[in-house]
Amino acid sequence: MRERFDVLVVGAGSAGCVVASRLSEDAACSVGLIEAGGMPEDPDIADPAKWTALPGRAFDWAYRTVPQPFTANRVHDWPRGRLVGGSSCLHAMAYVRGHPSDFEPWRAAGGDRWSYEGLLAGFRRSEAVIDAATGSREGDGPLDVYLPTEQVNPVVRAYMAAGNALGVPRIESHNGPELIGTCANALNIRKGRRLSLADAYLPDEVLQRPNLTLLTDHLVERIVVDGSRARALEVIAGDRRQQFHADRVVLCAGAIESPLLLMRSGIGNKDVLSDVGIDVTVERNGVGANLQDHLLVMGNVYRSARKIPPSRLQHSESLMYLDSTDLTATSGRPDIVLACVVAPSAAEGFHIPEYGQAFTILCGITHPTSRGRILPSGPRLSDPPIIDPEYLSSEQDRATLRAALRTARTVGAHPALSEWRDAEVLPGPQKFSDVDLDAFIAQTVSTHHHPAGTCRMGNEDDAVVDAELRLKGLQNLFVVDASVMPILPSGPINASTVALAETWSALDPK
Ligand SMILES: Cc1cc2nc3c(=O)[nH]c(=O)nc-3n(C[C@H](O)[C@H](O)[C@H](O)COP(=O)(O)OP(=O)(O)OC[C@H]3O[C@@H](n4cnc5c(N)ncnc54)[C@H](O)[C@@H]3O)c2cc1C
Repeated sequence: MRERFDVLVVGAGSAGCVVASRLSEDAACSVGLIEAGGMPEDPDIADPAKWTALPGRAFDWAYRTVPQPFTANRVHDWPRGRLVGGSSCLHAMAYVRGHPSDFEPWRAAGGDRWSYEGLLAGFRRSEAVIDAATGSREGDGPLDVYLPTEQVNPVVRAYMAAGNALGVPRIESHNGPELIGTCANALNIRKGRRLSLADAYLPDEVLQRPNLTLLTDHLVERIVVDGSRARALEVIAGDRRQQFHADRVVLCAGAIESPLLLMRSGIGNKDVLSDVGIDVTVERNGVGANLQDHLLVMGNVYRSARKIPPSRLQHSESLMYLDSTDLTATSGRPDIVLACVVAPSAAEGFHIPEYGQAFTILCGITHPTSRGRILPSGPRLSDPPIIDPEYLSSEQDRATLRAALRTARTVGAHPALSEWRDAEVLPGPQKFSDVDLDAFIAQTVSTHHHPAGTCRMGNEDDAVVDAELRLKGLQNLFVVDASVMPILPSGPINASTVALAETWSALDPK
């Protein structure tokens, strides 16, 4: 088997599929794509309605946070895909670019290339927007962005009508100049099936390129550093250990594994590494820090007045981005989000009606200010990560989330939903004080699955990568995945991860 490549890409997730596919378009460039998991063989992965059943299966890394003091000391499950396609094989398929202003901090961290205008070419290169109503197709990217129309559930239509009656504008999609408003989610679905990033970017004709080698069930344990260069990757496949070499190494292992792999290799904060017995090869303070994630309150549940038809999409059919201080705002950066789920949806320990007899409005904040960290618990691959997002440690986050829950209840109580609503089940029909709402939020809040920021791009000393996403201190090691985001955009982050990977691949820094 070949052991030397021009480029080695670690992780065939959302970003890794894009990078490997784009770089191997150049037939003169040999690309090795190394993935810890296998091919996506479970037929449930392709069924959009089954995404909530996937966590916990063999292809989930199944991470858990440490107990979170501001969420009633709960431990939170963090599913992550461990297979070709990565977390795009598990995700909920909602495609949201984000609000243009979300990317101003990215511009500040890395220049115009990372502004919304700079990323636009990357978004467009990836997208093919399919309008279900007309069948029209805009763009010739490999990733279908499906705009559903008549499939949208009637409960979701009523929820959007409630928003509009309260003054929330209607928008065409989450991917235009304004994000505040109501619309159905755009989805990465093709012909009724999930379209993972592997489906989109690594179809057979790409995998058959002679200059692209995909190694599945190969786990990268360590980067071997020699002076200012990454010299090799130490990789475990079954009971075999071997080294692979390349001129350039690109980490696309995601916001949890990219910083962990760096730290296992001695790249990180001196004190953090020496505490767990890892020798320092490159001192870089920010590795594993700046962890951020979106949260959702699970949820504001309503017993239905009549049977709700099952979702024909993926249950959570409409994100509604809002300004919590003015529901009639028509522009600007949203601070909260609601999501209408065509099912009862609650945290552990709560009793809720059966499927078909309830709907839920989830709510969250778009720009959390709480910051946490990922740390290794030891030097070995088998030592589990310590994941501490410090959820809701910021008072600003707690106040904004309270405002989000109040807004969800305002929308849920609106007459436009009266055909479907019997009674509010959670938190309940009565009035709640701020203290009551905080307690409910602490017991019900859950990840929206968007960890990011743990190898952040920036100019400061403790930033991990520079504007070319090159690891500071090493000439030929790059990080290209959700971990380099300096700050989360408003919405789910798969679209921006793909645009980031497209943008970096077009730059192709040597
Ligand atoms: C349940 C769930 C629902 C979500 N819903 C949405 C949604 O609706 N919309 C949205 O935009 N986003 C959603 N997301 C988030 C989105 O999927 C991720 O943010 C995105 O996929 C991250 O891409 P990535 O390339 O950074 O990492 P990943 O896609 O996680 O890829 C990392 C890859 O690296 C591999 N890897 C890691 N370590 C190693 C190693 N040491 N050696 C070899 N390989 C390794 C992993 O197995 C994986 O394949 C959701 C995520 C989850 C889990």
